Amino acid sequence: MISPPWCERCGAPASRPVASCRDCPPDAIAIARAPFGFDGPIRRAIHRLKFGGWRAVADALGVAMTESWAEVPWTPSAITWVPLSRERLAARGYDQARALARAVAPRIGVPALPLVRRLGDPGPQARRGAASRREAMRGVFEAEGASGRVVLVDDVLTTGATGGACATALLEGGAEAVGLLTAARAVSSARRPRPILGHGLASGSVVAPGNGIPGSRCQPRAKRPT
Ligand SMILES: [Zn+2]
Repeated sequence: MISPPWCERCGAPASRPVASCRDCPPDAIAIARAPFGFDGPIRRAIHRLKFGGWRAVADALGVAMTESWAEVPWTPSAITWVPLSRERLAARGYDQARALARAVAPRIGVPALPLVRRLGDPGPQARRGAASRREAMRGVFEAEGASGRVVLVDDVLTTGATGGACATALLEGGAEAVGLLTAARAVSSARRPRPILGHGLASGSVVAPGNGIPGSRCQPRAKRPT
């Protein structure tokens, strides 16, 4: 799981705590959190969730997402999600963001409400740059009946163009503030934390024999009774 130090606003891993960073999503999103970086097994799990309709994954990810929201200092009045287009929903039969929202909502103790409507589909976003994505997403969403602080759920945060467009619609539709909670976020490789091995050791750590492990939460193992 991604852990501090990070960007306080968007939860991106950082070498020291910062208030905001260059990976921060658009201004309409007040705060963003994601338990995982989008790579390795998490990438495969989300792919399964999306294309395999593997619903148990939604529940497991929902637990981790709820944990990563726990340190955010505001409680939402509702949870909502980034809706799929009607065509994609018909093809897939399954809205992965809705499944995640419904896994998170009861754990946070607020309702999951369909506050956002998708008016169009700008097509695949993967090859577009951030500015082009934001432009393509303009006017794609409409929200109604939002109030108070709303948590918007999606599967992955990349540039935040989609989440930002949804958040803008929610603010226009009556929300006071919008937070974004995703299962994973793209993490630029230069700032990705070093991989952690089994016992809380970063790869390449040197462990002095007989000592506690520096920089980890592991306690020295008690001596075996003789
Ligand atoms: Zn940031």
